Amino acid sequence: MAAGRFDLHVHTSASDGAWPPARVVEEAAREGLDGIAITDHDTVAGLEEALAAGRKMGVRVLPGVELGSEQDSREVHVLGYFIDPGDARLRETLAWLEDERRRRLERMLERLAALGVPVARGRVLELACGVPGRPHVARAMVEAGWVASVEEAFDRFLESGRPGYVPRAHLAPAEAARLVHQAGGCAVLAHPGLLDDDAMVERLLESGLDGIEAYYPGHSPEQTARYESLGRGRGLVVTGGTDFHGLGLGQPVRLGQVAVPARVVAELERRARGGR
Ligand code: AMP
Ligand code: ZN
Ligand code: FE
Ligand code: FE
Repeated sequence: MAAGRFDLHVHTSASDGAWPPARVVEEAAREGLDGIAITDHDTVAGLEEALAAGRKMGVRVLPGVELGSEQDSREVHVLGYFIDPGDARLRETLAWLEDERRRRLERMLERLAALGVPVARGRVLELACGVPGRPHVARAMVEAGWVASVEEAFDRFLESGRPGYVPRAHLAPAEAARLVHQAGGCAVLAHPGLLDDDAMVERLLESGLDGIEAYYPGHSPEQTARYESLGRGRGLVVTGGTDFHGLGLGQPVRLGQVAVPARVVAELERRARGGR
């Protein structure tokens, strides 16, 4: 049997997870995991707390991030592992993306107001803990009584092509991978099955990525087998994780339900140290 169980895709309340970092690490200990990677969307703000909790509870915590990039108008998520959370260029770029999100919020609110659907900026920022996205605008719209559900907010206003939609600034996948590399980490293509376009996945694997996330709750057995073989054929690390966002929000997945053995972690670490 392979040694070790590591869930390499985990969110906390530093981005859109339901639980604070220490609570997530506690759950990893409860599940008997050897370790987890904290991979919050476009932020490293949860890492310090998670690393400290991991030391206290005897759970290995890998510093990570999940960068939202874009190619051909499709959202492509790039996971970074073993990044230095203090890296200046990484922090600068993440701060720029945050600023861009706040500027975009202003434009979305202007559009919505012009459509007769005013939404309070303060409430959106509260719901977002400071880094606003469309889901937070949607929730504020439900609270204000403009729509009955988040789904309706997207369908009528917020989806691409709807009147409240404003695109946001993105890195390209290759830029995201470069940013991860220069911060001392290695870069992995997240949940390729969600792209639903394997020709695109093959092109993306040429973007300087070190690995591919083949093991993922949303992947069918056929997808898992295909991404394993695509990764192995290119000499990439084949990784996996649950994309855990906390329990109790209609989240069916348990932390560690998808896990990889210690040798995958060792391979990521080796490549992060320049062995690519
Ligand atoms: P943003 O990064 O601000 O553009 O928001 C993207 C997020 O909005 C995605 O990660 C989804 O969680 C959410 N989202 C996108 N489309 C929909 C939809 N039709 N219904 C509900 N949530 C959506
Ligand atoms: Zn998320
Ligand atoms: Fe993702
Ligand atoms: Fe994720």
